[in-house]
Amino acid sequence: MKLASPLVVTDIVDQHPCFSEKASHQFGRLHLPVAPKCNIQCNYCDRKYSCVNESRPGATSRVISPQEALRRVEEVIEKFPNIRVVSVAGPGDPLFNEETFETFRLIKERVPYLHRCLSTNGLLLPEKIESVKQLELATMTVTLNAVDPSIGAKIYPFVYYQGKKLEGVEAAEVLLNNQLLGIKMAVKEGIVVKVNTVIIPAINDDHIIEVATKIKELGVYMQNIMPLIPLFKFAHLSPPLPIERKRLQDECATVIKQMRHCRQCRADAVGLLRKDMSTQLFD
Ligand code: SF4
Ligand code: SF4
Repeated sequence: MKLASPLVVTDIVDQHPCFSEKASHQFGRLHLPVAPKCNIQCNYCDRKYSCVNESRPGATSRVISPQEALRRVEEVIEKFPNIRVVSVAGPGDPLFNEETFETFRLIKERVPYLHRCLSTNGLLLPEKIESVKQLELATMTVTLNAVDPSIGAKIYPFVYYQGKKLEGVEAAEVLLNNQLLGIKMAVKEGIVVKVNTVIIPAINDDHIIEVATKIKELGVYMQNIMPLIPLFKFAHLSPPLPIERKRLQDECATVIKQMRHCRQCRADAVGLLRKDMSTQLFD
């Protein structure tokens, strides 16, 4: 039996706590950690924790099965009727894990009124776009840190793609081409796309305006410029100061709408952005 919808959904952005600051005071989201594997390496991610492109570094989530995820959704919406968005954001790359698709299929069948959302590094977006389309995702986040493969090569030491391990500029080029094509395809399918860009001082901080310009051209809805948390190969870098992040947000705001209320959530976050309930509910 399907659960009844508490409202008629008219505007996804107005109900998505990440895509609208106003909505974040009223509506919550539920992250489902069903996707453990990742197909790339980011130099700021040591893979001991959840994907730091969309989660707070240092926070690990216990991976759950698609069936457990569905049970979690049903339990959580009983307790928190203001949940409007259910998202897969890790702990690895959602598109690289079949469990993501199974989870969304179950949720679409049982709780169709919830908006379905995912976050990805974008490598598999072009080849998965048909499956994504069938899931009728409302929103998606793609992390895009550079639109120049020579900069990308400093951020991504390797990617696994079509059975091969690619390195250096070749790896960055394949990743970038797929990210750009995938974003374009997602926008064409009517998915509202946000791009996360991590400020990596001395690597891409002078380049973020070029990322903003490119994503605007592709029809992306908004950009979320996030500070680097120095880890792994970038552990020696200093994180950007809040004033530097604001300067970049202000500069990029002349090109594309900026998200300024990101909380860098856990991959199993639940509830309002400012009041994550995951540790009370699941730890
Ligand atoms: Fe880590 Fe996410 Fe990068 Fe994969 S895409 S290496 S999980 S930050
Ligand atoms: Fe939203 Fe930021 Fe949390 Fe992602 S990490 S769910 S964009 S607040």
